[in-house]
Amino acid sequence: MAGTEAVAAQGAFVIANVRIFDGKRVIERGHVVVSGGRIVSVLERGAVPAGTQVHDGSGKTLLPGLIDGHVHHTDANRTDAPRFGVTTELDMVSDPTVHGPFKQQRKSYQPTANSDLWTAGWWATVPGGHGTGNGTEFPLVEPGTALAEFVAARRSEGSDHLKLALEDRNLVTQAPIPSLSAEQTTELVAAARKLGMPSVAHATAQRMAQVGLRAGATGLVHLFADEVVSAETVALARRTGAFVTPTLTLWSAFESAANPATNAVVRDPRVAPYISARQRAFLDAPWGFSRPGLATASRNVRILHDAGVPITAGTDSGIPGIAHGVSLLVELELLVRAGLTPRAALTAATATPASIYGFADRGRIRQGLRADLVLVDGDPTKDITALRGISAVWRNGAPITR
Ligand SMILES: [Zn+2]
Repeated sequence: MAGTEAVAAQGAFVIANVRIFDGKRVIERGHVVVSGGRIVSVLERGAVPAGTQVHDGSGKTLLPGLIDGHVHHTDANRTDAPRFGVTTELDMVSDPTVHGPFKQQRKSYQPTANSDLWTAGWWATVPGGHGTGNGTEFPLVEPGTALAEFVAARRSEGSDHLKLALEDRNLVTQAPIPSLSAEQTTELVAAARKLGMPSVAHATAQRMAQVGLRAGATGLVHLFADEVVSAETVALARRTGAFVTPTLTLWSAFESAANPATNAVVRDPRVAPYISARQRAFLDAPWGFSRPGLATASRNVRILHDAGVPITAGTDSGIPGIAHGVSLLVELELLVRAGLTPRAALTAATATPASIYGFADRGRIRQGLRADLVLVDGDPTKDITALRGISAVWRNGAPITR
């Protein structure tokens, strides 16, 4: 049940007679053989291989472990996400001094109940800018800061990607605040590129998203909701190849304390028993203000997706109203409501982020890849709400106790 961390030994086994979503396409009935923490083979036809322990997948769908493209690392106990099939999380700002063990873990094929973590570490923001003033001290981009050295310092602290705060209004009061300039943004993005680091931008207004896109940022890790996306912004994203992580779950949490999209999921009897006290505390935490945006952000998702801009699923877990793991189920439902097919939404949580962030060992069900797997009742490639009915999760080929 919630919070337990037991993991079984890594024996060889086959998940047989199962529908397989491999990150992009659907194999209606096949077998997946797992051993030593890896996927040994994906059999699209034929009999169940003899001599291995059989886990019957009839009536179920097997998916790659899901990737949440926007979280904040909140706790050394990282078991909440995998219990909801989320086996990899991309942190988008947290204290880098605690990340060492997670970098070791993500290379290992040993059983674990924790999610794997990639992290932004500290982000690039200016004195008095977004992300400051909450009592946490961290290096800021001051007038005269050598920006290439700033990025190199984040890299040596362990940042996997560079996060940029492109926000010129206070999120609550909408009062003007200082922000990185277009020139600083361009220089920071270029410095990150030189070091082989993706650069990702926080922007909740279209004009600031454009600053990131013009600078050549790898992606936007929120989708703005202040305006309908313009043809100019679409063209910018197309030209630079930028991806977008919309975080519709965040817009839903901002919009109202009732947060119907999240509550429909977390009150579902297939979901509720697995929510830990820690997750519940995040889900129940109030923002204390409401800001409509879900409809516009959803409309923008549809326009960008239709234009061929890569979409990755992300939640902003680790802030009020949003919890590790379970909130990704909400995000995928919101992406489908915005106009993605269920299969496209699932690709946004598997193959697409793996390809963008350069994860060669995960995000697909393929021979040789890490055996991070999610088995669900029914067919989430047709009905995304089927993801609420998780039957089993494996991390590195070992079942986790939900
Ligand atoms: Zn965030």
